[in-house]
Amino acid sequence: MKAHDGMYIDGTWRPAAGTGVIEVVNPADEEVIATVPAGTVEDVDAAVRAARAALPAWAATPPAERAARLTALRDVLLARQDEIARTVTAELGSPLKLSQAVHAGVPVAVAGSYAELAAGYAFEERVGNSTVLHEPVGVVGAITPWNYPLHQIVAKTAPALAAGCTLVVKPAEDTPLVARLFADAVHEAGIPAGVFNLVTGLGPVAGQALAEHPDVDLVSFTGSTAVGRRIGAIATGMVKRVALELGGKSANVILPSADLARAVNVGVANVMSNSGQTCSAWTRMLVHRDRYDEAVELAAAAADKYGDRIGPVVNARQRDRVRGYIEKGTAEGARIVAGGPDAPREKGYWVSPTVFADVTPEMTIAQEEIFGPVLSVLRYDDEDDALRIANGTVYGLAGAVWAGDEAEAVAFARRMDTGQVDINGGRFNPLAPFGGYKQSGVGRELGAHGLAEYLQTKSFQF
Ligand code: NAD
Repeated sequence: MKAHDGMYIDGTWRPAAGTGVIEVVNPADEEVIATVPAGTVEDVDAAVRAARAALPAWAATPPAERAARLTALRDVLLARQDEIARTVTAELGSPLKLSQAVHAGVPVAVAGSYAELAAGYAFEERVGNSTVLHEPVGVVGAITPWNYPLHQIVAKTAPALAAGCTLVVKPAEDTPLVARLFADAVHEAGIPAGVFNLVTGLGPVAGQALAEHPDVDLVSFTGSTAVGRRIGAIATGMVKRVALELGGKSANVILPSADLARAVNVGVANVMSNSGQTCSAWTRMLVHRDRYDEAVELAAAAADKYGDRIGPVVNARQRDRVRGYIEKGTAEGARIVAGGPDAPREKGYWVSPTVFADVTPEMTIAQEEIFGPVLSVLRYDDEDDALRIANGTVYGLAGAVWAGDEAEAVAFARRMDTGQVDINGGRFNPLAPFGGYKQSGVGRELGAHGLAEYLQTKSFQF
């Protein structure tokens, strides 16, 4: 057990203002592995003041130099990949292979992409008789969740730094250790003091203080819709900019012409990865009634193969919540064909990979975000029915379409109310804008669209 001290503020680890601590628990075995300080309003205020003081110089730093610092940051993240992966596995519970490939790997790609974007972006353009400047928004308050703990920090920090903004990050309570590693990486990359600051702490205390701080110009939040709504209201009330990455209930639409086995297997893997704790997971599989029984059988077999290899969920509250949904699914008439509410291990926050058949669109498990390894397989009659089901939730974050030919899948995907669609198993692209339609959020992350979120325009007329 390691007791960590200090907040990363103004380029150094300085003692926290209060004495409260947060215990970090390994979800695989419930051992307390570390403590971190629980930040107070004073810590947040000190961090925001440091970010404000550092803003003029960083905003005036030539983009090529900001790009050089981001390249250095990418290199440090690359050099520390092993340590990052082991830390995420310890505090989140994800299997080491996933931690290496995704939790440690994706941030390297994203930091690298913003190094390139910063170097080549048109921060100034001519529009008719005007010159339009794209200037940094200012001080950013970033509040992040635990499910992709480093990715979500980097997806906010890298574009903010590329844009010339300074920031304060408040990471999730469950995963502060990788956030602390990241602050060390920022330091090692030579990013000037005050440009990046980290305050660990509780959401309703440190998170709320950050969102409410009058000197924060943009609040960028990823997490639950309930908290997002609250942060949106605070930001709007104070007339500050806000970006919200919230929940999802994405559809995996398997059209009759698709390669069924492939679509089902990739679909199950997508849902079970990270123990189902992915906002963009395709948790509703939509299959034509003629191929429904075959699909259910394939999905159950695929899920059974995972066993406890997917890792636990993050904490006891999530485990209880996911189990509650599994019980509700049965109570509302859905049929368990794999897994169920019983845990595969006694100690730790384990949930069995679970597949429900005979799920209808209005059931709770087909409408609400479960955030666990639970897949619902739904039956549709024709394409219009499939579209109605796919679009029939309050969310619109992601989705997938499978068909015998790409054009058929694309034609369907065009009609979906969602921010991202993978066509026949398309790969993750760190340059493609990521974000939600409807209640899945406001704004976009990643790539040039993600950079634009941290910029505001100023026009000179000639
Ligand atoms: P959460 O929204 O409570 O927490 C996310 C972040 O917000 C954390 O850093 C937390 O400390 C902070 N926070 C909490 N209350 C706050 C407040 N009043 N003011 C300011 N900041 C606050 O999410 P959670 O409890 O970790 O997870 C609950 C559910 O959220 C999950 O089951 C899932 O449905 C959803 N979720 C979605 C995503 C996503 O990427 N879309 C990520 C994580 C969780």
